[in-house]
Amino acid sequence: MDESQLSMKKILFGTNNLNKLEEIRAIVPEGYEVVSLQDIGLDMEVEETELTLEGNAWLKAEAYFMASGIPCFADDTGLEVAALNGEPGVFSARWAGDTCSYQDNVDKMLREMDGQEDRNAAFRTVIAWADGGPPKFFDGVAPGTITEEVRGIGGFGYDPVFLPEGKSETFAEMSPTDKHAISHRGKAVRLFIEFLQQQVNAN
Ligand code: IMP
Repeated sequence: MDESQLSMKKILFGTNNLNKLEEIRAIVPEGYEVVSLQDIGLDMEVEETELTLEGNAWLKAEAYFMASGIPCFADDTGLEVAALNGEPGVFSARWAGDTCSYQDNVDKMLREMDGQEDRNAAFRTVIAWADGGPPKFFDGVAPGTITEEVRGIGGFGYDPVFLPEGKSETFAEMSPTDKHAISHRGKAVRLFIEFLQQQVNAN
């Protein structure tokens, strides 16, 4: 082990999603090593029982920090649709039922929005940070509208029916790089990375 590895600060990402892990590892500032639940052998599922994105993100970050002793961040994301009073929001993953697929959720969205004039919506990601101090949150919002039909095959989740503000392509029609540059998750991650960078500079 060389000297730089010895001075690396280990932080835990409370997720089992390998895409998210790769994404953050690529942009984390020097001096940090991001480890996953799998890396540290923590086989623990935290149920998302809160009614807000902040609540669920914090639930996960705090539980994994307490279980591992490693400062931890975790995220939660939802799609908030104005004409549906903010739904599916915190319930985005299982909106069409407990065992539903992304396709089921997209189909339900198009059904619920059929004939709606107000198609405004926003994706929101909250990242929570638990290190034994007060909770910290990093919020990223991507405003846009719900399309009238499915467009594009990229991305995941509700991407084929979400047209980001000021763009002519849905998230599912964009490259991952273009999506990340304007997405809710991209914005929240960049704020979190800025915070880590400030911690590096302060020490
Ligand atoms: P999670 O909290 O990141 O797991 O997201 C909860 C749910 O929101 C997912 O199961 C997806 O249905 C949806 N979702 C989250 N992020 C995105 C995104 O970037 N595009 C489309 N759908 C997303």
